[in-house]
Amino acid sequence: MSTDFDAIIIGGGPAGSTAASLLAIEGKHVLLLEREVFPRAHVGESLLPASLPIFDALGIREKISNAGFVEKYGAAMVWGNTREIWSWLFAETKGPYEHSYQVTRPEFDQILLENAGSKGAVVKESCQVIKPLVDDTGTVTGVEYFDEQQNLQMASAPITIDASGQQTLFANFFGLKNWDNDFRHLALYGYYIGGDHLQPPDQGSILIESYENGWAWKIPLHNGKSSVGLVLDESWGQEKIKQFGTDALFAGEIDKLVEIKNLLRSATFDGETILIKDWSYLTKQMTGDGYILVGDAACFIDPLFSSGVHLALQGGVLAAAYAVTLLEDPQLARSAARQYEATYRRRYGYFHELARLFYGSNSSLKSQFWTERTISADDWSTQSREEFVNIVAGNSPEGYERVVIEQGHAPETFVTAIQTAEIERVNRATKSQDLNNQQLVEGIPQLIEGARLVKGAVLGSHKYELGYILQTDQRPEGYPVITPIALLLNLCDGKRTVEQIAEEMQDHLSPDGNEIVTMVVEAVRNLLADGLVHLAAD
Ligand SMILES: Cc1cc2nc3c(=O)[nH]c(=O)nc-3n(C[C@H](O)[C@H](O)[C@H](O)COP(=O)(O)OP(=O)(O)OC[C@H]3O[C@@H](n4cnc5c(N)ncnc54)[C@H](O)[C@@H]3O)c2cc1C
Repeated sequence: MSTDFDAIIIGGGPAGSTAASLLAIEGKHVLLLEREVFPRAHVGESLLPASLPIFDALGIREKISNAGFVEKYGAAMVWGNTREIWSWLFAETKGPYEHSYQVTRPEFDQILLENAGSKGAVVKESCQVIKPLVDDTGTVTGVEYFDEQQNLQMASAPITIDASGQQTLFANFFGLKNWDNDFRHLALYGYYIGGDHLQPPDQGSILIESYENGWAWKIPLHNGKSSVGLVLDESWGQEKIKQFGTDALFAGEIDKLVEIKNLLRSATFDGETILIKDWSYLTKQMTGDGYILVGDAACFIDPLFSSGVHLALQGGVLAAAYAVTLLEDPQLARSAARQYEATYRRRYGYFHELARLFYGSNSSLKSQFWTERTISADDWSTQSREEFVNIVAGNSPEGYERVVIEQGHAPETFVTAIQTAEIERVNRATKSQDLNNQQLVEGIPQLIEGARLVKGAVLGSHKYELGYILQTDQRPEGYPVITPIALLLNLCDGKRTVEQIAEEMQDHLSPDGNEIVTMVVEAVRNLLADGLVHLAAD
């Protein structure tokens, strides 16, 4: 069936414009519909360094670095078991990038949106999408929208990407939204002109200060202003707004802070207090026939870790890859959709657990807000919690994750789980290193229980490709593995020795005999250390 476009994108925020740019780079005919006229205001100014490679992929790294945004080298917090400010730098973490940016969203989002246009996407501002067009089979075939002149229009495409942010257009239409009762907050924020910043090296950092009724942020911006906001319990906040109004409540709560209030002593409030819903949610389904949800349209997690824009950018990359797969390799689309959802859910689960832990371990304050968010010792048993433990255990400091473990007052069960996982990891690594080559050559490797090798969609450079995935009970979406490792894993059946495996692999691969034995020995050693195989006699 002929359609107007290859893909339609709803919303020109970070998620939508990233997906549009990447699809246009792949030569796809893309329509992006944005209801506002850019530059438009938006909350969410503090970025993560992990976004820098995405700026490279979009070809905007230089534009971003020339925009004059404040360079952000880390985060500072009043949180955990002390009321002193403690800070950490991205340079201390294991990531390759030492800084990120504090951006003004009107400018930042405009750079991204203009980029989509310059790459060839058809960008239409002042166009509000009303609803998806759905055919008899339940497939989304396009959208209905009001154009710039308020005329009702239709556009069709094999894939529609909903990047409408907290508007969650498709999730509302299809009834897919699940509110997350762990984080029912509201935010009040505004801008201050002037004032002071933290001392070097933290002058560009976000400052997060917990206080009796919630927490506050202060983000230094390059236009001489600071973004200052409060995160409060939703029902408590609504009650107080009824009593005092947003402006008086905001000013009154800022007055209860210590560090942020101190930095704002000589600053003047600029404009109005903005009230915004800050209630986390996850959609039940992120892909369906003819559509995919991305960014805040797919899920929203508490802003504590400044992760929203990064998740939106990364989601834009994945959604574009999914759309290219659907257009070029439709047989792989279902598997790609499963991978997309699994990746997204895993990230949500991770930040959810991290946030729960952060809120739950802030022992420096005793008030209703913090007591209600305490995690009880036995409240630590879900799969995403186990996954979280496995990710953070044994790793070098990784910003927020390690800091909460070291500075917070985490539940005993969590601390024990981390310690156990760390000990197991060290033991596995030591044991695999202690085995000499001869022992390994004679060893009989076997996949751990529940591990299985499957063929499915694996993320390639710009689309999903057919590849091998090692799935485990703990990580159902699996680890993508290259073909030689897949071949090796297939032979780890608890019957063949490493030497026999190497012989069989030689029939499929070209290196000479010695080289392949060495390769297989080293690969098995790594798989043992990662806990993905064990030796049959273990
Ligand atoms: C209080 C608070 C503080 C935050 N702080 C941070 C932070 O410091 N760092 C961070 O990374 N994240 C932060 N976030 C999260 C961040 O703002 C979002 O996660 C991010 O903007 C999501 O990007 P997006 O592209 O999915 O959606 P958005 O940026 O919201 O873009 C969606 C776009 O879709 C358009 N749109 C909506 N409906 C329609 C329609 N029907 N038709 C056409 N267009 C439509 C909108 O106009 C908008 O431009 C914060 C969030 C909150 C609530």
